[in-house]
Amino acid sequence: MKAGIIGLGNMGGRMAKRLLEQGVEVGVFDVNKEFVRSFVELGAEEAGSPAELAKKFPYIITVLPNVFIVKETLAGANGLMEGMTPHSLLIEMTTSIPSVTKELNEMMKTKSFRMIDAPVSGGVKKAEDGSLSIMVGGEADDFEEAKPLLALLGQNIFHVGESGAGHTIKALNNMISATTLAATGEAMALGVKLGLDPNKMLDVINSSTGRSFSSDFKFPNQVLTRNFEVGFTLDLMVKDLKIAMSMAEEEKVPMFISSASFQLWKHAWSQGGGSEDHTAIVKYIEEMFGVEIKG
Ligand code: NAD
Repeated sequence: MKAGIIGLGNMGGRMAKRLLEQGVEVGVFDVNKEFVRSFVELGAEEAGSPAELAKKFPYIITVLPNVFIVKETLAGANGLMEGMTPHSLLIEMTTSIPSVTKELNEMMKTKSFRMIDAPVSGGVKKAEDGSLSIMVGGEADDFEEAKPLLALLGQNIFHVGESGAGHTIKALNNMISATTLAATGEAMALGVKLGLDPNKMLDVINSSTGRSFSSDFKFPNQVLTRNFEVGFTLDLMVKDLKIAMSMAEEEKVPMFISSASFQLWKHAWSQGGGSEDHTAIVKYIEEMFGVEIKG
C-alpha cells in the first residue's frame, strides 16, 4: 500500500511512523523541513510539494492545524489538486469546519476528484499504537476503499454520514471532552481545598458516576503527575470549541453549559498563549482556587 502524509506534527508524525512500521510505502510533505528529514531517515519518500506527493501516491492523508491550511494545500499553487487524478483519494484527518469541508468536497467533485473527512480522537498515544477512533464523512464506497488503510491507524472506525459529518461529530466530541476536563478540574480543586486527597478522590470518581476520560486518563497521567507535556495544545482545543460553537450559532440553538466551559478555556488560552498542552487548563483553575492537585 502507498500513502502520502501532509503534516508531520504531534499527530501526523506519529501516524506516518505507524504506517511505516506497518510496511506502508510512505511519502511525506511538511513546511517544517526538519520533520521531513527525520522521516526520510526512517525510510519515507520526500515530496517537494503537495502536487508532487499527489502524483506519486494514490492515497493522501492531511493532518494539518486548520481548514485554511487544508484549503491552501488543496487548491493553492502546487497544491494537491494539481497532482490528483479521479483514482486518488484524499483522506482529510484535520479537525476542521464541516461547512468548509463540504465546500472543498464540492470543489473537488467538479474535477471528479474524491475526498472523505476522517478526523481522529485518542491523542498522541493512540496515534502511536494505531488505536485511534476515526469518524468518517463522505461516500460509502470511498469509506470502504479507505478502510484497510484507516485500520492501520485506528481501532474504532465509523462511517457517520455524508461529507462533513466526520468533522461535525469530531467538534461535538471535543466539546464534551473539554467540558468534562474543565468540570473535573473544578471539582478536584474544590475537593483539595476542602482537604481531600486527590488520589482518593479519583478512586471514588472513577468507580462512580462522575467518571470520564478526563478523570480516568488525563488526571492520573498528566495532572496528578504534573506532566503537562504537549500532545494536544490549548490552541487546538480552543479552535475545536470555536467550531462547535459556530455550528450551534448557525443552527440558532443555545449552548448554556458549553458556553460557560468555552469561557474558561478562552481564559486559560489568553493567559498561557496557546502552545501549552490543553491539560494546562487545570493549572489556571488551580490558580483561581489557590491549590495544587498533586498526586
Ligand atoms: P501540530 O501543530 O503538532 O502539527 C501540524 C503540522 O502541520 C506541523 O508539522 C506543521 O509544520 C505542519 N504544517 C503547517 N502548515 C503546513 C502547510 N502549509 N503544509 C504542510 N505542513 C504544514 O498539530 P497536531 O497536534 O499534529 O494536530 C493536527 C490536527 O489533528 C489538528 O487539526 C488537530 O486539531 C487534530 N488532532 C490533534 C490531536 C492531538 O492529540 N494532538 C488529537 C486529535 C486531533
